[in-house]
Amino acid sequence: MQPDLLLPPGERLGWAIVGLGDFACNQILPAFAACGRSKVTAVVSGDRAKAERVARQYGVPAHGVYTYETFDQIRDNPEIDVVYIILPNAMHAEYTVRAAQAGKHVMCEKPMAPTGAECRRMIDACAEAQRKLMIAYRAHFEPHNVEAQRLLREGAIGELKLIVADHARLLDPQQPQDRWRTQRELAGGGALVDIGIYSLNAARWFTGEEPTGIQATEFSTPGDERFREVEESISFVLRFPGGVIANCLASYGVERCKRYRLLGSEGWLDLDPATEYHGNRLVVGTAKGHEERIVAAGNQFAREIDHLSECVQENHEPQTDGLMGLRDVELIQAIYQAAGITGGEQTRER
Ligand code: NDP
Repeated sequence: MQPDLLLPPGERLGWAIVGLGDFACNQILPAFAACGRSKVTAVVSGDRAKAERVARQYGVPAHGVYTYETFDQIRDNPEIDVVYIILPNAMHAEYTVRAAQAGKHVMCEKPMAPTGAECRRMIDACAEAQRKLMIAYRAHFEPHNVEAQRLLREGAIGELKLIVADHARLLDPQQPQDRWRTQRELAGGGALVDIGIYSLNAARWFTGEEPTGIQATEFSTPGDERFREVEESISFVLRFPGGVIANCLASYGVERCKRYRLLGSEGWLDLDPATEYHGNRLVVGTAKGHEERIVAAGNQFAREIDHLSECVQENHEPQTDGLMGLRDVELIQAIYQAAGITGGEQTRER
C-alpha cells in the first residue's frame, strides 16, 4: 500500500457516496481532501435539496446527483468507478448488488448486512460483475491499530494470550442516526452489530485465527423503549484455536468507551481509545515499565478509501474483503444464538 501517493485529479478514481447521513457528511466526504487516488464525483440521496447542497460543497457536477430511484443510471456515468454505501445496515445488500450490476466497484460500511445470506448475495454479485468489494473496517487503516498489529507480530509482548475489548456509547434516538438503530428491521441488531463488531473483528485480526468457541449473555433494560427490538448490552467470550481468549463487551447503555487491551506472555498493548475517529492512543507495557507509543497521525478514512482505489487500479484484493464481512456476520449470529437471542435473524425471545 502506498498511502501517500498523490495522483493528479484526472487519474484519481471517481466515487459515488450513497446516503448523505451523519457519517457520510461529517467523516467520509471531508476525508476525500486527504485522498491521493480518489475523488468524489457523485452523490446519492433521498433528499434532493440536501444532495444538491452537498454536491455544490464538494464540486460534484449536477449530472452526478442521483436519488434512490435514479440510482441505476450510475451505469451510464463513466465518472463513477466506485460506489460507497453508507446507508442503514439492512439496505447495504440491495445497493451493493445494484452497484455491481451497474458495473461499479463497491465499498460497503460495516456491518456488511444483517444476514449471512445477504452477504453471500453481495459477494456473488460483485464476483459475477468482476468488481471489487471492500467492507469499511477502518481500524485496519488506523495508524495506532496498524502499529499495535506490527508490534504484536514482532513479538513485543511475547505470545498473545488474552484480549479484552469494550465498545460502548449511549444510544440517543433524538438523533436521526440513532432512530433506525432502534429498529431491528433496519439495523439487524443492537450494540453488537453496530459497535461490538469492532471488538469481534479486532480479535480475529490480532489473532489471525477464527474462534472455535463462543459464550455470550445479553441484557436489555425492561421497559426502555430504545431496547424493545435491539439489545442494549452484550458480553461475549471467544476462544481461538491457538489458545487466545477474547473477552468482549458491547453496550448502548453506558458512556462512551472504545478500547482494546492485548495481553501477552511478556507484556501488553493498550489501545485506549482504539477506534475513535481521531485521538487514539497506544501504550506498550513490559516488565520494565510502560510507555506511550507516539504514532504519526494519518487519516484512517482517506487511507481506507485510497486502499480500495489502489486495489482497483492495480488489481489487488482489498485487505478487508467481503469474506471478512461475511465471517463477522456469521459470528454475530452465533453470538446472538449463544446469548439466547434465537428464532433466526429477525426475532428474539426474552
Ligand atoms: P445516518 O442515519 O446518519 O445515515 C444514513 C443515511 O441513509 C440517511 O441520512 C439517509 O440519507 C439514508 N437513508 C436511506 N433510507 C433510509 C432509511 N429508511 N432510514 C434512515 N436513513 C436512510 O446513519 P450513519 O451515518 O450513522 O450510518 C450509516 C452507515 O454507516 C451504517 O451502516 C453504519 O453502521 C455505518 N457507520 C460506520 C461508521 C464507521 O466508523 N465505520 C461510523 C458510523 C456509521 P439521505 O437522506 O441522503 O437519503
